[in-house]
Amino acid sequence: MSNGSRAFLVSNVMQNNSGRGLTLNEGSQVFSDGDTFQGNADAGIVANSGAYFAATSVVVQNNGSDGSDAIVASDHSTLSLISCAITGNTGNGVRLQHSAEARFDNYVGPTTVTGNGGSGVSVGDLSFALSGPSSIAGNLGGPDVLCTPQFSATRGALTNIDLEARTVTLKDREESIGYDILVLAVGGVTNYAGVEGAAAHTIPFRKIADADKLRSVMVDALDRVPPDLPPQDTQRALTFAVVGAGASGVELSTKMADLLRDAFKRRALRGEPRVLVIEMGDKIVPGMGGQIRDFVEDAL
Ligand SMILES: Cc1cc2nc3c(=O)[nH]c(=O)nc-3n(C[C@H](O)[C@H](O)[C@H](O)COP(=O)(O)OP(=O)(O)OC[C@H]3O[C@@H](n4cnc5c(N)ncnc54)[C@H](O)[C@@H]3O)c2cc1C
Repeated sequence: MSNGSRAFLVSNVMQNNSGRGLTLNEGSQVFSDGDTFQGNADAGIVANSGAYFAATSVVVQNNGSDGSDAIVASDHSTLSLISCAITGNTGNGVRLQHSAEARFDNYVGPTTVTGNGGSGVSVGDLSFALSGPSSIAGNLGGPDVLCTPQFSATRGALTNIDLEARTVTLKDREESIGYDILVLAVGGVTNYAGVEGAAAHTIPFRKIADADKLRSVMVDALDRVPPDLPPQDTQRALTFAVVGAGASGVELSTKMADLLRDAFKRRALRGEPRVLVIEMGDKIVPGMGGQIRDFVEDAL
Protein backbone atom coordinates (compact mmCIF):
# COMPACT_ATOMS: atom_id res chain seq x y z
CA MET A 1 0.00 0.00 0.00
CA SER A 2 1.59 3.26 -1.10
CA ASN A 3 1.62 6.49 0.85
CA GLY A 4 -1.75 7.88 1.96
CA SER A 5 -3.84 5.29 0.14
CA ARG A 6 -6.82 3.42 1.56
CA ALA A 7 -8.04 -0.11 0.87
CA PHE A 8 -10.82 -2.39 1.99
CA LEU A 9 -9.90 -6.06 1.85
CA VAL A 10 -12.47 -8.79 2.36
CA SER A 11 -11.83 -12.52 2.47
CA ASN A 12 -8.56 -12.49 0.55
CA VAL A 13 -5.70 -14.91 1.03
CA MET A 14 -2.21 -13.46 0.93
CA GLN A 15 0.08 -16.43 1.13
CA ASN A 16 3.44 -17.92 0.29
CA ASN A 17 5.03 -14.66 -0.82
CA SER A 18 8.82 -14.55 -0.84
CA GLY A 19 8.63 -11.32 1.22
CA ARG A 20 5.82 -9.84 3.33
CA GLY A 21 2.14 -10.51 3.02
CA LEU A 22 1.19 -6.82 3.15
CA THR A 23 3.11 -3.57 3.74
CA LEU A 24 1.34 -0.32 4.64
CA ASN A 25 3.44 2.75 4.02
CA GLU A 26 3.19 6.26 5.33
CA GLY A 27 -0.36 7.24 6.34
CA SER A 28 -2.07 4.45 4.41
CA GLN A 29 -5.14 2.75 5.82
CA VAL A 30 -6.31 -0.82 5.38
CA PHE A 31 -9.60 -2.22 6.63
CA SER A 32 -9.30 -5.97 6.51
CA ASP A 33 -12.21 -8.31 7.12
CA GLY A 34 -11.88 -12.09 7.09
CA ASP A 35 -8.54 -12.08 5.27
CA THR A 36 -5.79 -14.64 5.73
CA PHE A 37 -2.06 -13.90 5.74
CA GLN A 38 -0.11 -17.11 5.83
CA GLY A 39 3.10 -18.82 4.89
CA ASN A 40 4.87 -15.64 3.79
CA ALA A 41 8.64 -15.76 4.07
CA ASP A 42 8.82 -12.45 5.92
CA ALA A 43 6.24 -10.76 8.20
CA GLY A 44 2.53 -11.19 7.52
CA ILE A 45 1.72 -7.47 7.87
CA VAL A 46 3.97 -4.44 8.38
CA ALA A 47 2.56 -0.96 9.11
CA ASN A 48 5.00 1.94 8.85
CA SER A 49 4.94 5.66 9.58
CA GLY A 50 1.46 6.55 10.74
CA ALA A 51 -0.29 3.73 8.89
CA TYR A 52 -3.55 2.32 10.21
CA PHE A 53 -4.49 -1.35 10.01
CA ALA A 54 -7.96 -2.33 11.24
CA ALA A 55 -8.67 -6.05 11.14
CA THR A 56 -11.72 -8.09 11.98
CA SER A 57 -11.62 -11.90 11.99
CA VAL A 58 -8.26 -11.93 10.26
CA VAL A 59 -5.92 -14.91 10.46
CA VAL A 60 -2.15 -14.36 10.49
CA GLN A 61 -0.39 -17.68 10.68
CA ASN A 62 2.81 -19.53 9.91
CA ASN A 63 4.62 -16.49 8.56
CA GLY A 64 8.35 -15.80 8.72
CA SER A 65 10.84 -18.39 7.64
CA ASP A 66 13.54 -16.72 9.75
CA GLY A 67 11.88 -15.57 12.95
CA SER A 68 10.15 -12.53 11.44
CA ASP A 69 7.33 -11.04 13.47
CA ALA A 70 3.80 -11.78 12.29
CA ILE A 71 2.53 -8.18 12.53
CA VAL A 72 4.82 -5.19 12.96
CA ALA A 73 3.65 -1.63 13.62
CA SER A 74 6.17 1.16 13.91
CA ASP A 75 6.53 4.94 13.97
CA HIS A 76 3.08 6.10 15.12
CA SER A 77 1.20 3.36 13.30
CA THR A 78 -1.96 1.91 14.80
CA LEU A 79 -3.40 -1.58 14.81
CA SER A 80 -6.98 -2.38 15.70
CA LEU A 81 -7.40 -6.14 16.03
CA ILE A 82 -10.85 -7.54 16.59
CA SER A 83 -11.34 -11.28 16.90
CA CYS A 84 -8.18 -12.10 14.98
CA ALA A 85 -6.03 -15.21 15.26
CA ILE A 86 -2.26 -14.73 15.24
CA THR A 87 -0.72 -18.13 15.57
CA GLY A 88 2.24 -20.28 14.64
CA ASN A 89 4.45 -17.50 13.30
CA THR A 90 8.19 -17.90 13.80
CA GLY A 91 8.79 -14.56 15.59
CA ASN A 92 6.64 -12.40 17.85
CA GLY A 93 2.91 -12.39 17.24
CA VAL A 94 2.71 -8.58 17.30
CA ARG A 95 5.65 -6.20 17.56
CA LEU A 96 5.05 -2.54 18.37
CA GLN A 97 7.96 -0.15 18.09
CA HIS A 98 8.68 3.58 17.98
CA SER A 99 5.41 5.01 19.32
CA ALA A 100 3.08 2.50 17.71
CA GLU A 101 -0.11 1.39 19.33
CA ALA A 102 -2.42 -1.58 19.21
CA ARG A 103 -5.90 -2.20 20.50
CA PHE A 104 -7.13 -5.74 20.97
CA ASP A 105 -10.89 -5.43 20.97
CA ASN A 106 -13.52 -8.00 21.56
CA TYR A 107 -16.78 -7.07 19.86
CA VAL A 108 -17.32 -10.44 18.20
CA GLY A 109 -14.89 -12.62 20.13
CA PRO A 110 -11.39 -12.39 21.59
CA THR A 111 -8.23 -11.97 19.59
CA THR A 112 -5.96 -14.97 20.05
CA VAL A 113 -2.19 -14.67 20.01
CA THR A 114 -0.73 -18.07 20.64
CA GLY A 115 1.92 -20.56 19.59
CA ASN A 116 4.24 -17.97 18.07
CA GLY A 117 8.00 -18.50 18.15
CA GLY A 118 8.74 -15.26 20.03
CA SER A 119 6.61 -13.35 22.49
CA GLY A 120 2.90 -12.95 21.94
CA VAL A 121 2.97 -9.16 21.95
CA SER A 122 6.23 -7.25 22.16
CA VAL A 123 5.74 -3.61 23.15
CA GLY A 124 8.86 -1.57 22.40
CA ASP A 125 9.90 2.01 22.96
CA LEU A 126 7.09 4.49 23.61
CA SER A 127 4.51 2.12 22.20
CA PHE A 128 1.48 0.82 23.96
CA ALA A 129 -1.06 -1.93 23.69
CA LEU A 130 -4.56 -1.83 25.08
CA SER A 131 -6.16 -5.19 25.42
CA GLY A 132 -9.79 -6.12 25.88
CA PRO A 133 -10.48 -9.75 26.83
CA SER A 134 -7.95 -11.39 24.52
CA SER A 135 -6.18 -14.68 24.69
CA ILE A 136 -2.46 -13.94 24.58
CA ALA A 137 -0.96 -17.16 25.85
CA GLY A 138 1.20 -20.14 25.02
CA ASN A 139 3.82 -18.30 22.98
CA LEU A 140 7.08 -20.12 22.83
CA GLY A 141 10.06 -17.79 22.72
CA GLY A 142 9.43 -15.23 25.44
CA PRO A 143 6.79 -13.84 27.77
CA ASP A 144 3.31 -13.57 26.28
CA VAL A 145 3.49 -9.81 26.70
CA LEU A 146 6.99 -8.37 26.62
CA CYS A 147 7.30 -4.69 27.44
CA THR A 148 10.70 -3.11 26.85
CA PRO A 149 12.16 -0.97 28.11
CA GLN A 150 9.84 1.79 29.31
CA PHE A 151 6.85 0.03 30.71
CA SER A 152 5.71 -3.18 32.22
CA ALA A 153 2.80 -3.85 34.52
CA THR A 154 2.15 -6.33 37.25
CA ARG A 155 -0.93 -6.86 39.37
CA GLY A 156 -0.59 -7.03 43.14
CA ALA A 157 -1.01 -5.21 46.43
CA LEU A 158 2.13 -3.57 47.78
CA THR A 159 2.71 -4.65 51.35
CA ASN A 160 6.28 -3.64 52.13
CA ILE A 161 9.03 -1.31 50.98
CA ASP A 162 12.67 -1.92 51.83
CA LEU A 163 14.34 1.42 51.21
CA GLU A 164 17.86 0.12 51.81
CA ALA A 165 17.62 -2.91 49.58
CA ARG A 166 15.47 -0.91 47.12
CA THR A 167 12.87 -3.60 46.84
CA VAL A 168 9.11 -3.83 47.23
CA THR A 169 7.06 -6.82 48.30
CA LEU A 170 3.63 -7.74 46.99
CA LYS A 171 0.94 -9.63 48.84
CA ASP A 172 1.09 -13.42 48.43
CA ARG A 173 4.34 -13.24 46.49
CA GLU A 174 7.59 -14.38 47.99
CA GLU A 175 9.97 -12.73 45.54
CA SER A 176 10.54 -9.05 46.05
CA ILE A 177 10.85 -6.67 43.10
CA GLY A 178 13.87 -4.38 42.78
CA TYR A 179 13.69 -0.75 41.69
CA ASP A 180 15.93 2.24 40.99
CA ILE A 181 13.36 4.93 41.64
CA LEU A 182 10.11 4.26 43.45
CA VAL A 183 7.04 6.39 42.77
CA LEU A 184 4.08 5.88 45.08
CA ALA A 185 0.73 6.81 43.56
CA VAL A 186 -1.64 4.94 45.83
CA GLY A 187 -4.34 7.60 45.85
CA GLY A 188 -5.78 9.60 48.71
CA VAL A 189 -7.94 8.76 51.70
CA THR A 190 -10.94 10.64 53.02
CA ASN A 191 -9.83 13.40 55.34
CA TYR A 192 -12.15 13.58 58.36
CA ALA A 193 -10.16 16.56 59.65
CA GLY A 194 -10.11 15.14 63.18
CA VAL A 195 -13.89 15.41 63.58
CA GLU A 196 -14.91 12.93 66.24
CA GLY A 197 -17.45 10.36 65.11
CA ALA A 198 -17.22 11.40 61.47
CA ALA A 199 -15.61 8.17 60.29
CA ALA A 200 -18.04 6.01 62.26
CA HIS A 201 -21.26 7.78 61.33
CA THR A 202 -20.83 9.00 57.78
CA ILE A 203 -20.43 7.44 54.36
CA PRO A 204 -17.19 8.37 52.59
CA PHE A 205 -17.39 9.07 48.87
CA ARG A 206 -14.38 7.76 47.00
CA LYS A 207 -15.06 4.34 45.60
CA ILE A 208 -17.83 2.76 43.59
CA ALA A 209 -18.69 0.74 46.71
CA ASP A 210 -19.24 4.04 48.58
CA ALA A 211 -21.63 5.23 45.87
CA ASP A 212 -23.51 1.91 46.06
CA LYS A 213 -23.76 2.22 49.85
CA LEU A 214 -25.07 5.79 49.62
CA ARG A 215 -27.66 4.78 47.05
CA SER A 216 -28.91 1.91 49.18
CA VAL A 217 -29.11 4.14 52.28
CA MET A 218 -31.20 6.62 50.28
CA VAL A 219 -33.46 3.93 48.86
CA ASP A 220 -33.94 2.42 52.35
CA ALA A 221 -34.90 5.84 53.68
CA LEU A 222 -37.38 6.31 50.81
CA ASP A 223 -38.86 2.85 51.48
CA ARG A 224 -39.64 3.90 55.05
CA VAL A 225 -41.81 6.82 53.88
CA PRO A 226 -45.45 5.88 53.22
CA PRO A 227 -47.28 7.94 50.53
CA ASP A 228 -49.73 9.37 53.09
CA LEU A 229 -47.02 10.77 55.42
CA PRO A 230 -47.64 14.47 56.10
CA PRO A 231 -45.26 16.71 54.10
CA GLN A 232 -43.46 18.08 57.19
CA ASP A 233 -42.66 14.54 58.36
CA THR A 234 -41.45 13.60 54.88
CA GLN A 235 -38.77 16.24 55.01
CA ARG A 236 -37.65 15.11 58.46
CA ALA A 237 -37.36 11.53 57.18
CA LEU A 238 -35.53 12.50 54.03
CA THR A 239 -32.90 15.11 54.81
CA PHE A 240 -29.36 14.24 53.71
CA ALA A 241 -26.26 16.27 54.52
CA VAL A 242 -23.19 16.41 52.30
CA VAL A 243 -20.14 17.82 54.08
CA GLY A 244 -17.82 19.80 51.83
CA ALA A 245 -18.88 22.01 48.93
CA GLY A 246 -15.93 21.30 46.68
CA ALA A 247 -16.54 19.99 43.17
CA SER A 248 -17.26 16.45 44.40
CA GLY A 249 -19.65 17.52 47.18
CA VAL A 250 -21.58 19.84 44.89
CA GLU A 251 -21.80 17.33 42.06
CA LEU A 252 -22.85 14.59 44.45
CA SER A 253 -25.56 16.74 46.05
CA THR A 254 -27.14 17.49 42.67
CA LYS A 255 -27.13 13.78 41.78
CA MET A 256 -28.77 12.97 45.12
CA ALA A 257 -31.39 15.64 44.47
CA ASP A 258 -32.09 14.10 41.05
CA LEU A 259 -32.52 10.66 42.59
CA LEU A 260 -34.93 12.00 45.24
CA ARG A 261 -36.95 14.02 42.73
CA ASP A 262 -37.39 10.99 40.46
CA ALA A 263 -38.30 8.73 43.39
CA PHE A 264 -40.87 11.23 44.66
CA LYS A 265 -42.59 11.30 41.30
CA ARG A 266 -42.59 7.55 40.86
CA ARG A 267 -43.77 6.85 44.42
CA ALA A 268 -46.26 9.76 44.53
CA LEU A 269 -44.85 11.03 47.83
CA ARG A 270 -45.83 14.39 49.30
CA GLY A 271 -43.55 17.10 50.71
CA GLU A 272 -40.00 17.98 49.85
CA PRO A 273 -36.92 15.93 50.53
CA ARG A 274 -33.81 17.92 51.29
CA VAL A 275 -30.09 17.76 50.51
CA LEU A 276 -28.01 20.10 52.66
CA VAL A 277 -24.52 21.02 51.53
CA ILE A 278 -22.35 22.10 54.48
CA GLU A 279 -19.18 24.10 53.81
CA MET A 280 -16.87 25.62 56.43
CA GLY A 281 -15.13 28.04 54.06
CA ASP A 282 -16.67 31.22 52.72
CA LYS A 283 -17.02 29.93 49.17
CA ILE A 284 -18.44 26.91 47.46
CA VAL A 285 -16.28 25.17 44.81
CA PRO A 286 -13.25 27.14 46.05
CA GLY A 287 -10.96 25.81 43.31
CA MET A 288 -13.09 27.34 40.53
CA GLY A 289 -13.28 30.82 39.08
CA GLY A 290 -15.95 33.37 40.03
CA GLN A 291 -18.06 32.85 36.94
CA ILE A 292 -18.32 29.11 37.48
CA ARG A 293 -19.05 29.67 41.17
CA ASP A 294 -21.96 31.98 40.31
CA PHE A 295 -23.27 29.39 37.89
CA VAL A 296 -23.00 26.61 40.49
CA GLU A 297 -24.72 28.74 43.14
CA ASP A 298 -27.59 29.46 40.76
CA ALA A 299 -27.90 25.78 39.88
CA LEU A 300 -27.98 24.76 43.54
C1 LIG B 1 -16.34 11.41 43.92
C2 LIG B 1 -15.15 11.84 43.12
C3 LIG B 1 -15.34 12.44 41.90
C4 LIG B 1 -14.25 12.86 41.16
N1 LIG B 1 -14.46 13.45 39.96
C5 LIG B 1 -13.43 13.83 39.20
C6 LIG B 1 -13.62 14.43 37.93
O1 LIG B 1 -14.74 14.58 37.46
N2 LIG B 1 -12.51 14.80 37.23
C7 LIG B 1 -11.26 14.64 37.72
O2 LIG B 1 -10.30 14.99 37.04
N3 LIG B 1 -11.05 14.08 38.92
C8 LIG B 1 -12.10 13.68 39.68
N4 LIG B 1 -11.88 13.12 40.89
C9 LIG B 1 -10.53 13.05 41.40
C10 LIG B 1 -9.81 11.89 40.79
O3 LIG B 1 -10.54 10.71 40.91
C11 LIG B 1 -8.51 11.76 41.53
O4 LIG B 1 -7.83 12.99 41.50
C12 LIG B 1 -7.65 10.72 40.85
O5 LIG B 1 -8.31 9.49 40.82
C13 LIG B 1 -6.36 10.59 41.63
O6 LIG B 1 -5.60 9.63 40.92
P1 LIG B 1 -4.49 8.81 41.66
O7 LIG B 1 -3.83 7.98 40.61
O8 LIG B 1 -3.63 9.72 42.45
O9 LIG B 1 -5.24 7.91 42.72
P2 LIG B 1 -6.33 6.76 42.49
O10 LIG B 1 -7.16 6.99 41.29
O11 LIG B 1 -7.01 6.63 43.81
O12 LIG B 1 -5.44 5.47 42.20
C14 LIG B 1 -4.64 4.88 43.21
C15 LIG B 1 -4.52 3.41 42.87
O13 LIG B 1 -3.56 2.84 43.73
C16 LIG B 1 -4.02 1.54 44.09
N5 LIG B 1 -3.39 1.15 45.36
C17 LIG B 1 -3.60 1.68 46.60
N6 LIG B 1 -2.84 1.05 47.51
C18 LIG B 1 -2.13 0.11 46.86
C19 LIG B 1 -1.17 -0.87 47.26
N7 LIG B 1 -0.76 -1.02 48.53
N8 LIG B 1 -0.64 -1.69 46.32
C20 LIG B 1 -1.02 -1.57 45.00
N9 LIG B 1 -1.92 -0.66 44.57
C21 LIG B 1 -2.47 0.17 45.48
C22 LIG B 1 -5.52 1.67 44.24
O14 LIG B 1 -6.15 0.40 44.10
C23 LIG B 1 -5.82 2.62 43.09
O15 LIG B 1 -6.11 1.90 41.89
C24 LIG B 1 -12.95 12.68 41.66
C25 LIG B 1 -12.75 12.03 42.89
C26 LIG B 1 -13.85 11.62 43.62
C27 LIG B 1 -13.62 10.93 44.94
